[in-house]
Amino acid sequence: MSSWIEIPANSDFTLDNIPFGIGSTNGKPRAATRIGDKVIDLDALQAAGLFASINLPDGIFSNKVLNDFIELGKPITNAVRTRLQELFAADNGEFRDNEALRVDAIRNAKEVQMHMPVRVGDYTDFYSSREHATNVGTMFRDPNNALLPNWLHIPVGYHGRASSIVISGTPLHRPKGQTKADDADAPTFGPSRLLDFELEMAFVVGKSNALGTSVSVEDAEEHIFGMVIFNDWSARDIQKWEYVPLGPFLAKNFGSSISPWIVTMEALAPFRSASPKQEPKVLPYLEMKKDHNFDISLEAIIETESGALKTVSNSNFRHMYWSMAQQLAHHTVNGCNMNVGDMCASGTISGPTPDSYGSMLELTWRGTKPIAMPDGSERKFIQDGDSVIMKAFCEKDGKRVGFGEVKTKILPAV
Ligand code: MN
Repeated sequence: MSSWIEIPANSDFTLDNIPFGIGSTNGKPRAATRIGDKVIDLDALQAAGLFASINLPDGIFSNKVLNDFIELGKPITNAVRTRLQELFAADNGEFRDNEALRVDAIRNAKEVQMHMPVRVGDYTDFYSSREHATNVGTMFRDPNNALLPNWLHIPVGYHGRASSIVISGTPLHRPKGQTKADDADAPTFGPSRLLDFELEMAFVVGKSNALGTSVSVEDAEEHIFGMVIFNDWSARDIQKWEYVPLGPFLAKNFGSSISPWIVTMEALAPFRSASPKQEPKVLPYLEMKKDHNFDISLEAIIETESGALKTVSNSNFRHMYWSMAQQLAHHTVNGCNMNVGDMCASGTISGPTPDSYGSMLELTWRGTKPIAMPDGSERKFIQDGDSVIMKAFCEKDGKRVGFGEVKTKILPAV
């Protein structure tokens, strides 16, 4: 498929993608899509009558978030995506030959300020990479019993904090909190010294379920609108002192960063892949009758204040032991209701090799193996002034669909 809008080689934003986001150029946030290096204002396209064949409420794309659009359901949102592919196709003149509309609706991505694509009502973080859970269990508990007894039976997760999920480009301050050294008698208070990223993906709920009802594994993908890259910032020293017995709290809720474009499940469909073999057999409500995993290449990069770049991890979403479908089925099996815009993050996605681990905790093995940076410095954890960049894309049979990036700079504690 080729387009009359230029798509640079290796662009994440091909005609096969057509993601959804919220962007603004003049302070007015609008629903948008992206193709190549151009951002397209969907409100302008609707006003010009190009979605007349689809049953869309007037002004749906002038909302500040995509929740109401997503709530229309996949028959509508998929029709919009398919219509955009049609309008961007090289041989279609409806948009191409309308100069006034081109001037009005097309912007260079660099000039567009991106915003949170959805209002996130609730956020859940899973812990679904076996390699990550094994590495953490090995470091903090017992190498011979690294996985806790429930891990192979339950997609383990905790309820996170939705209010501090921020869009790529939003800087975060180093968090402060209580920490306690192993040999100290009492905790102390101050800036975290072990600030870490977690390389994750998150899915955005696209269809709600009523309180008291459940979503099956088979139906789960009908309830997922799409995915974003998710950096689940973590303060390891605060986490270590606070997490027993109720799990993560202030070590996790000071910020999580997402990429701005929601890539739909339909765009990801060609990249479906098998999950790792699940042994022991899972309980019937978690059984998968088809593949629910996806082959998504992931990269984490540290950029120093002076601009030195170092790729510290290359992982892949297909390493996930528990699929998104299983996570959603488990989350709702007790009757928990999910709402449109809710986000569920995967948990740190570590692969089997040391260069594929998804956090500094694992990459430097608790700081015992520092990473050499190109400017001569080294990193055990993330320093003030560092930015962390995460990228994700799928590629197969000449097709490429990607997420762009999420980039976050860490500022000193205040
Ligand atoms: Mn996490």
